[in-house]
Amino acid sequence: MRFLVTGGCGFIGSHLVARLVNNGHYVTILDDLSTGSLDNVVSFLTRPQVELFIDTILNASLVEELVRRSDFVYHLAAVVGVKKVLDNPIESILVNVHGTNNVLKSCTHWHRPLLLTSTSEIYGKNTAVPFTEDADIIIGTTTKRRWSYACTKALDEFLAFAYAEEEKLKVIIVRLFNTVGPGQSPHYGMVLPRFVKQALAGQPLTVFGDGQQTRCFLHVDDALTAMEKLASSAKAYGEVFNVGSQEEVTIGQLAHLVKELTCSPSEIIFLPPEKVYPVGFEDMGRRVPDISKLTGLTGFQPKKNLRDIVTDTIAYFRSGKSPAL
Ligand code: UDP
Repeated sequence: MRFLVTGGCGFIGSHLVARLVNNGHYVTILDDLSTGSLDNVVSFLTRPQVELFIDTILNASLVEELVRRSDFVYHLAAVVGVKKVLDNPIESILVNVHGTNNVLKSCTHWHRPLLLTSTSEIYGKNTAVPFTEDADIIIGTTTKRRWSYACTKALDEFLAFAYAEEEKLKVIIVRLFNTVGPGQSPHYGMVLPRFVKQALAGQPLTVFGDGQQTRCFLHVDDALTAMEKLASSAKAYGEVFNVGSQEEVTIGQLAHLVKELTCSPSEIIFLPPEKVYPVGFEDMGRRVPDISKLTGLTGFQPKKNLRDIVTDTIAYFRSGKSPAL
């Protein structure tokens, strides 16, 4: 098969491309390198089955052409992460909404099925964990720019459902919870690569706030397995699924685990939120997915636990390969 992977030079996208190529498929990558990097894909760019277009999903005619030439589309391209959205609010909103509309429209036009990645951010300030897919979206006011990210992805989901209903588009929506593993850059603020890098450099591990906030970390390989299982399940189309781990950990505990597994002498320091976040930023207290919908349909269960994930991430940093910036 020929796959189009938008955002294929990013952390998750490049792992996906590698997997597809290793399974004998042809892959077209569309990426504007805004957060992705050529370093992530350079090892398989020489393969004849891979072609790369360095361009934006805002380029509607190119999207149209690349979708036409594909059998299936994995749409991962987005301005991701709250930090990036805080720095570039206009671009983030336009790329995430107009760019996704271009992809949805082209897939509708050429009758191509797609998997669209969304985010756990859209649960916003909801505290009723674990979140089921039909949980309310509770977001803050529009003067707090961090909420625009959640809104753009929620709008992407609304659009996808609308195309599915009005135009019979075959689309699966996946809400990715914290996805980590080898190759993730510490550059955009993600906690695990930051802690590992700090620990290996003997620098203090910087816990933001009191460290009691929790997250559930899923290995990127497990996230891809879940996505592939969904893509090959007829009943997944027209539906939204949480994809994540349910192993909840406080950020303080994570810092201790990284310190232990790296045998680092680094100290763990707690930084007051007002020192690390822009004015008006709100951090999430707990973020835990309910994955029974995904498990019920596909039988998916994560293979790697938190210790495995941290170990893999440390090995990656120790290997000397630099994560893409
Ligand atoms: N965090 C931290 N130290 C860091 C980077 C992040 O304590 O150096 C915290 C951050 O405040 C959040 C958690 O780790 O509470 C997860 O952050 P990340 O950006 O990885 O994911 P998200 O907040 O999007 O779930």
